[in-house]
Formats: sequence, C-alpha cells, structure tokens
Amino acid sequence: MSLTPVGDNIIQINRYRFVNAFLVREEDGFTLVDTTVGRGADVLLQTARDAGAEIRRIALTHGHGDHVGSLDALKATLGDSVEVLMPDIDARIHAGEKVVDGKLPGSWPKLKTTPDVRLTGGERIGSLEVVPTPGHTPGHVSFLDTRDRTIIVGDVFTSIGGLAVSNHFYLRFPLAAMATWDKAKDLESAKKLRELDPARLVVGHGGPVSHPRAAMDKAISSAGG
Ligand SMILES: [Zn+2]
Repeated sequence: MSLTPVGDNIIQINRYRFVNAFLVREEDGFTLVDTTVGRGADVLLQTARDAGAEIRRIALTHGHGDHVGSLDALKATLGDSVEVLMPDIDARIHAGEKVVDGKLPGSWPKLKTTPDVRLTGGERIGSLEVVPTPGHTPGHVSFLDTRDRTIIVGDVFTSIGGLAVSNHFYLRFPLAAMATWDKAKDLESAKKLRELDPARLVVGHGGPVSHPRAAMDKAISSAGG
C-alpha cells in the first residue's frame, strides 16, 4: 500500500500498485471514494484513523470489482454509521436487473451491501459534485471537489504509463479498455471532463496529474476525439 497526498483535502491510497481509493476530508470525517479490491477494509479504516477521522460515507465511481471489492467488509465493520452512495444504473446491475443489451464487460461481483443513495449526477456529497460520466460502465460517475477543482474520474482515464482514455486498447494498461462497456460514450465523458477544466485529475489506476489540460487534450486526441 502507498499513500499520496493530493492537494490539501484528498489522500490517494494505492494497493498492489494497481488500484486507488481516495479519502476526501470533510468537516465530519472522510468520504471514501471507491474501495479497491477485496481484503482492503482494515487498511482503509486504519489509514483514515491515522489521518485523524472516521469514514462517514463511501461513494463509488462505478460497480466494477476492483472498485467495490472491499465494500461489504467496510459496511460490515461500519454498519449504520456509514452511508453508501453508488451510481443508480450500476446499482441496478448489481441488483440483478438487466439494464443493457448483451454482456457487460468487466467484473461484477455479488454484493451484499445495497446503497443508501443512488447517484444520477448533479448531487452534492459534502464538497464533491457528482458528474455523470457513463461509458466505462453504464452508470459511471466522477466527483469534482469544488474547493480546489480536483476531479476523481474513476476509470474514464487511466494514468499508468501516461494519461489515456479507457475507450481504446492502450498497451501500458490494457485492462481498463477491456472492461469498458460503451467506447463512444466513454470518449464523450472524457471530453465532458476536459470541459470542466479541472486543476488536478486523479484516477482509479495510476498517479495524480496536476494541471491536466494538455495531457487530457493529448489523451482525447489519441482516443479518436
Ligand atoms: Zn472499471
């Protein structure tokens, strides 16, 4: 596990040099964005405690197994003291509803936890604004920290080996594209994120990117946009 501070309010937690979760500091404690793969509950809880607060909310960018992997274990420990927020369409997929034609790529493990809040975009979660960014999954959302315009974009972009949109096969990190549901929608979402002109971009896989405009433009143009 490794920790990287991102601005004043966010701590990036990386597990297995593969996948990130984020502790977002709020007045009442932390919002945890994503939970990484399984067996991460203890380390996520301890990291929050070491940073001086409890996890009050768990907000998920999307329903894939490497982002919801430790959700059930966190919920089992935190119980009613934690609120779980998940994109509406991904929550419906997890509930067994058939929401799209054909097979969905990526891993969709069985979850015991049902979300308290289903996100469709436009909501506020403390300092975070929910931005709908469908494509990688049908319900995928991103979270814009309105304090400093850092944006947490889940798997719309990856930054392992350079910034890339997850709509196309990228040799340095092919897994994201393999798990992407609708490549055209994913590219549209990448463009929408660029239009928000974030000051900092953080992703599910790879390190933070400061002043990301040029890197986002290059990634979008390489992606066919
Ligand atoms: Zn994913």
